[in-house]
Amino acid sequence: MRYSGAVNISSFHTHTRLCRHASGDPIDYVKVAASEGCSGLGISDHCPYPDGTWGGSRMDPSQVREYLSLVKAAREQAAFPFFWGFECEWHPKYESWYRDFLRAETGAEYLVYGSHWVEVDGCFEYIPDAGDPRNLKPYVDLTLEGLSSGLFDLFAHPDIFLAGFPRWDADLKAASKDIIAAAIAAGIPMEVNGLGLTKPRIAGPEGMRPPYPVREFLELAASEGAVLICNSDAHRPQDALAQARNAETWAYSRGIPTVDAIEALAFAKGPVRA
Ligand SMILES: [Zn+2]
Ligand SMILES: [Zn+2]
Repeated sequence: MRYSGAVNISSFHTHTRLCRHASGDPIDYVKVAASEGCSGLGISDHCPYPDGTWGGSRMDPSQVREYLSLVKAAREQAAFPFFWGFECEWHPKYESWYRDFLRAETGAEYLVYGSHWVEVDGCFEYIPDAGDPRNLKPYVDLTLEGLSSGLFDLFAHPDIFLAGFPRWDADLKAASKDIIAAAIAAGIPMEVNGLGLTKPRIAGPEGMRPPYPVREFLELAASEGAVLICNSDAHRPQDALAQARNAETWAYSRGIPTVDAIEALAFAKGPVRA
């Protein structure tokens, strides 16, 4: 369903206190969402890594059991479609971790791809802070690999890398086109991210703008035929749906068409993928 002025009442991108930089338990997100007439909610906290990568802002592998019990308790209270999974970065060395552990062993119902990092001298740097032109190609190459891995159901903040590259130019347009084409080829909806709208603005060619979402990227995505949905990326229960509504308003006011997430996400319509 194309956006027609209805209020967005779903989000499939939310976090919990377990990732160490968000607050609230899944049940708290369910309660807020219920009070706002939710049509569908997904809890997608940042996944842990077996080697402690980004351990200061990710849950520990030993907390996965707790996460499972929290999302299961939340599901019992949800009077609307409820799903749970993880938001993951991609790197080939973790492929089995994602496929065999997160998906198969824990039974995650969906995986969100958040392409937050670029590998620089063996370290994973946060792309908004690593906007060196030399990092663009490695970032795009890794992102294309992630999108075509077959692991992910949804591409979060596909334009986050542009936070590190505020001047839209031919190279960034080409990079964006490649990323958009890969998401379309993989059949993965892309997100208009509500959290980015709350972050400190950065200077772009047309003045100050949010670090993401980025109008130029999402206009290009829409013109290429990508499926765009609105998510909150809530890190506090009170933002569970509100930030997704903000994302929808932002897109609508720029003429960027978005689709109801429940309609767009295959896992939300049918049986859970094996
Ligand atoms: Zn993210
Ligand atoms: Zn997130």
